[in-house]
Amino acid sequence: MIDFLDLRAVNARYQDEIDAAAQRVLHSGRYILGEELASFEREFAAYIGVDHAVGVANGTDALALTVNALGFAAGDEIIVPGNTYIASVFAVTLNGCTPVLAEPDARTYNIDPRRIEEKITAKTKAIMAVHLYGLPAPMDEVCRIAETHGLKVIEDASHAHGAAFHGRMAGGLSDAAGFSLYPTKNLGALGDGGIITTDDGQLAGKLRALRNYGSEKRFEYTYPGRNTRLDELQAAMLRVKLAHLEEENQRRREIAQFYLYAIKNPSVVLPVVPEGSTHSWHQFVVRCENRNGLREYLEKNGVRTDVHYPVPPHRQPALESLKTASLPVTEKIADEVLSLPINPVLTDGQAREIADRINEWKGSF
Ligand SMILES: *Cc1c(COP(=O)(O)O)cnc(C)c1O
Repeated sequence: MIDFLDLRAVNARYQDEIDAAAQRVLHSGRYILGEELASFEREFAAYIGVDHAVGVANGTDALALTVNALGFAAGDEIIVPGNTYIASVFAVTLNGCTPVLAEPDARTYNIDPRRIEEKITAKTKAIMAVHLYGLPAPMDEVCRIAETHGLKVIEDASHAHGAAFHGRMAGGLSDAAGFSLYPTKNLGALGDGGIITTDDGQLAGKLRALRNYGSEKRFEYTYPGRNTRLDELQAAMLRVKLAHLEEENQRRREIAQFYLYAIKNPSVVLPVVPEGSTHSWHQFVVRCENRNGLREYLEKNGVRTDVHYPVPPHRQPALESLKTASLPVTEKIADEVLSLPINPVLTDGQAREIADRINEWKGSF
């Protein structure tokens, strides 16, 4: 059986470095807000090419804290793509703001810039662009629309560690970006983690306070904050993983290139990479009208796949108020997408096997 993602195998390659980093933290006696976090934040900011990075407990908090720090609250509307992971939407609702779902482009799966302006009202404050599956959203057009209407732009870069748009790294293309560092992401901790990147020093300062009870100075509380910090052990693990991110992304790109060249089945639509975009290939997502049929065939023939995501946010009981939203493109995508294995430990032979199984499938209902 070809696994979808074997995290044990991914991390085992760095066993010695991970052990050494863990020992360093255990013997430091400092477990929260210490040198490992400060170093990881510096290294990650340098990698993305921004002035500031602020580590937090997870990706949902990275986005929710950013919405909070930008000053948005009840009554404010934030535009979010309809086909994103539900956590992007929760980052909005956790602040009492109203998520307004916009349709994606059916070719790129990213927010469709032609479908943003119809969603802008007097209450709109920001656009959250999600670099879905690792392909940068069309940030030139998103930022142009935002500027015209006086809106902030936030990136959900949880799939896009190492992706780039016309030579600029995802995470440095807007007012502020939130990254998840969940174990399955391109840069994954050995537990939960998240980080925010921004060039705005004042915003970064506020975010540092908000993640630590709103405190700028010990026992002095400037904002009604929270406790959402990235701990020293995870920061140390992430420093090890960050040093290998480029080589891992390079391997993902090789596999993606191979799939794009080798998969030839008229029932299977391959992903597109627009000119000027560098994909991080967090997921390699194909489309197929009989998605479930293809998925079952692959499962029976030794290939495990996944679906990102089978039920869109507005169809979830948790977001009852959005259930009347009309999002036909989003719904069609949810019915047809299939994620193939793509990860740094997938071998050439396994990639060949996966392409062969897809090519031999007689796609019909
Ligand atoms: C993983 C993910 C998140 C949430 O991150 P957590 O670390 O699990 O809280 C947010 N948005 C997207 C697009 C994600 O894939």
